[in-house]
Formats: sequence, structure tokens, C-alpha cells
Amino acid sequence: MSESFDVVVIGGGPAGYPAAIRAAQNKLTVACIDEWKNREGLPVFGGTCLNVGCIPSKALLESSELYHRLREEFAVHGIRTTGASFDVAQMQKRKGGIIKASTQGILALFKASGVTPLQGHGKLLPGRRVEFTAHDGTRRELAAKHVVLASGSLPAELRSVPFDGKTIIDSCGALDLDAVPKRLGVIGAGVIGLELGSVWRRLGSELTVLEALPEFLPIVDQQVAKEAQRQFKKQGFDIRLGAKVTGAKIQGDAVSVTYSDARGEQSLTLDKLIVAIGRRPFTRDLLSAGTGVELDERGFIKVDHECRTGVEGIWAVGDCVRGPMLAHKGKEEGVMVADLIAGRFAEVNYKTVPSVIYTAPEIAWVGLTEEQVKASGRAYKVGVFPFLASGRARAMEQTQGFVKLIAAQDDDEILGVHIIGPLAGELIAEAVLAMEYSASSEDLQRTMHAHPTLAEALHEAALAADKRAIDFVNR
Ligand code: FAD
Ligand code: AMP
Repeated sequence: MSESFDVVVIGGGPAGYPAAIRAAQNKLTVACIDEWKNREGLPVFGGTCLNVGCIPSKALLESSELYHRLREEFAVHGIRTTGASFDVAQMQKRKGGIIKASTQGILALFKASGVTPLQGHGKLLPGRRVEFTAHDGTRRELAAKHVVLASGSLPAELRSVPFDGKTIIDSCGALDLDAVPKRLGVIGAGVIGLELGSVWRRLGSELTVLEALPEFLPIVDQQVAKEAQRQFKKQGFDIRLGAKVTGAKIQGDAVSVTYSDARGEQSLTLDKLIVAIGRRPFTRDLLSAGTGVELDERGFIKVDHECRTGVEGIWAVGDCVRGPMLAHKGKEEGVMVADLIAGRFAEVNYKTVPSVIYTAPEIAWVGLTEEQVKASGRAYKVGVFPFLASGRARAMEQTQGFVKLIAAQDDDEILGVHIIGPLAGELIAEAVLAMEYSASSEDLQRTMHAHPTLAEALHEAALAADKRAIDFVNR
């Protein structure tokens, strides 16, 4: 007889593990299967996010930013430093400790909530059965009332620039470098490319970013994107737009990369090349024949707005389904599915998924960009408040950037908030909450904000939308 569970989750990343925990909180019997092994070959939960994504990248961004600030910004505070240096090995060790604590934390959460962790490969069989192959090769079959597929994603490869794992690397390799490359190239000026480029640039790399599109950060509000491009240029990023990479050749310890731009064929010699052209859904050996679960033309598992596949009792969440590839989007989908399975009300509001780019300055947004609102034809108003006018930002010596709020002209509904500046990723939370509750810009205007805080900049941007800002000359 096969073992049976109410819910079997395949994938223990930020989409899968919250689904498992919430299902257990809902008094369902749950198993969560994950096959990830860390660098030491030990099985761990947490997926991309905890092992090679959000958490390690933020750990290195923090370390490199501290060093950069010490060199560039301490003097103005009257703090003198001499002989400052850094130790990449210690930065990597600290990062490793954070990953370890985070991944072990998931096992502890599973234990506390009663989720059965199964470390090995999971494969969906027809009829809501799952074949589980443990790392030692033993196989067993699980029966489930519901199966949640949360198999995640992998770095996309550029066929003309194959990874060699040493000189041409993906985001995982870029997080594991043991020395600062002198000449670093990044293909793709997306979120991951800019964050990883920032880490090594702050530590001294000469950074060239090659981006095929003619526009910088096209998904971002263009007023913000322009400011970001200006700031990155000041930091020494060499961002080449309209540069389509066509090939790369390893030459000893270096790599010669070729690309075409408006001027024709170009080439560049680099010590390391990070390919950061996006991620693709990962579903290898996940579905046996006859399950009825369908993939779309890009390889994502097809689901509806409630993450139901076309097959009764089979759900899919996170990076392996449509929508932004973000940990928090996957988490909310996982939790929603576990609640729907338990017969509770649940939904994900895809209109209020926040996005953050953890560069310096940080970039964060929620809702529509001004370009999108304009294209929709709806009349709108815009309020902008620069951090230069924020007392707290001045005290922090972090006055770059601004908060921009877009609201509908007719009913004052907030349509989008875009922030570039200090702690933008934290500040955006208030805008997300406001939009989740369908707040108007007037609602934000009437909400008291502590002084002096960076959050006042959002308050003032809301006021500015009606030309009523107090701390900035309204135009
Ligand atoms: P994953 O995290 O990829 O987890 C899937 C899990 O499923 C893996 O552990 C895998 O081993 C397991 N699995 C797959 N198939 C099977 C199978 N058949 N059997 C058993 N196990 C299986 N997002 C953010 O929101 N904020 C950030 O700051 C951020 N930074 C990032 C930085 C980098 C460098 C990268 C690469 C990504 C970053 N992301 C960030 C994206 C984020 O990591 C992903 O959106 C998130 O991890 C997706 O979660 P998931 O659970 O869907 O998939
Ligand atoms: P993201 O999807 O946010 O990770 O961003 C990936 C970026 O890589 C996008 O902006 C793409 O336009 C860019 N890109 C994809 N292929 C190439 C290529 N061959 N050369 C340069 N840039 C590329």
C-alpha cells in the first residue's frame, strides 16, 4: 500500500515551503519533497531563493555596500579611515552562514508545524500519485488528495555563450567568486545582472553591462530608469544599450565577447562574464506521461488565476508558472493554494506585487508605470518628491532619487508608486498596503507620518499629486 497525504508539495523553495506549512496549519497531512543539494553535497530546503538567490545576493550586496560607503561616504560624516581593506573569503563565509541558518530554519519550521520533509526527487504520476526517489536511490509511491507543483526555475542560457563554470558563469557562479575580477562583464541589464554587477563593482571590478534592448530597464517607470542610469554611470558602470551579444571565446584565463550594436560588430576582453539574461521554468522529469498537466509554449506549467492546473487536485505555484519570478509572489501563491485546498477563501492580487532592485540607490515599485497609465488612456496626475528635500535623507547623506506617485484624475485611486532612493524596498510596503486597500492619494495625504523619516517622502509625493506638498515647491 502506498503512503498517503492530504497534500504533497514538490519543491521546497519560497513557493513550495510556505504552501506546505500553511497546509499543515490547516490541519492537513503534508509532505514536502525537495532534491536540492548544497555545495557540500548536503540536502537542503529553501530552493533558489535561500541557496543561490535573494538571500546570498543580499548578503553580498550588504557587505560590498558597507565597504563602498566606508571608502566613499564616511569622510563627509567626519569619520576618518585609513588602510581599509576587505576579505572576499570572509564575505563568502558570512554569506554561507546566513544560507545555512536560513535553510536549517525551514527544517525547524517543518518540524514545528508537522510537515514531513522528503529529500530527493518527486515526480507526478497520473491519478494524484507521486513517485519519490530518495537521494540514496530508494523509491516509493505517495498517494495525495492534492499535489502542489513548485519546481521553480533555472538561469537561462545564451546558446552562443555557453557557461564553462569558470570564466563564463551564471548568477550562482557570480555569487561564489573567491576574488574580485579585474574586468567583469554582465550580459543583461535586468534585476539580477545589475545587483550582481553592483556587488563586484563596489569591490573594484571594471564593470561593463551589455544589454540588447535600446532602452534601460524598460519594465521600470522611465523617469526612475533614467535616474537609475545616471546614478549607475556615476558609480562607474559602463552600460552599453542596444548591444546584442553574439558569441564568446575563452582565451586562456580571459574571455573575448562579441556583440553587435548600432556601430556594427564589437568585441571586448573580460576576465569574467556573467550571463544574466533571465530565468526559465524548471520542470525536468517532474511530470510522467499521462498526468494531463500542460506546459505553455515557454515551458511554464499552465494554471488559472487560482493556480489550478487543468487537472483536478493538481496545482502549481511560483517561478514554474506565469507571472513575475519573485519569491514573495510564489509565497503568496503557495499560501493561497493551501487555503483553497482547505476550503478557505484566498486570492492573490497580482496588481499589487511589489518589485525591488537592491542596487544603490534601491529601486522599488508597485502598480502601473506612467508609460502604462498613459497608454491606458486614463487621465492621471503625478506627485514627485525628491529625497533631497527630506530631512532624514539629508541626515543620512542619502539624498539621491525620489518618490513618484501616480493617481487617477477622476477618483484619485493610486495607480502606481515608484521609488528610487534609500531603503526604497522598505518604503514600497506602505504603497502596497495602500493599493491593496484601494486607497486614494488623499488617504495617504491624510495619514500621519513620523518626522523625520524617509516614509514622509511618500506622504509628500501624495500631497504633490494635488500640488499641496509642504516641504517641496509644487510645480
Ligand atoms: P525555487 O526557489 O527555484 O525552488 C524550487 C525548488 O524545487 C528547488 O529547491 C528545487 O530543488 C526543487 N525541485 C524542482 N523540481 C523538483 C523535483 N522534481 N523534485 C524535487 N525537488 C524539485 N526574488 C525576490 O523576490 N527577491 C529577490 O531579491 C530576488 N533575488 C534573486 C537573486 C538571484 C541571484 C536569483 C537567481 C533570484 C532572485 N530572486 C529574487 C528570484 C527568486 O529566487 C525566485 O523567484 C524564487 O526562488 C522562486 O521560488 P520557487 O519556490 O518558485 O522556486
Ligand atoms: P531579466 O529578465 O530582468 O533578468 O533581464 C535579462 C536581460 O537580458 C533583458 O533585459 C534582456 O533584454 C537581456 N538580454 C537577453 N539576451 C541578450 C543578449 N544576447 N545580449 C544582451 N542582452 C541580452
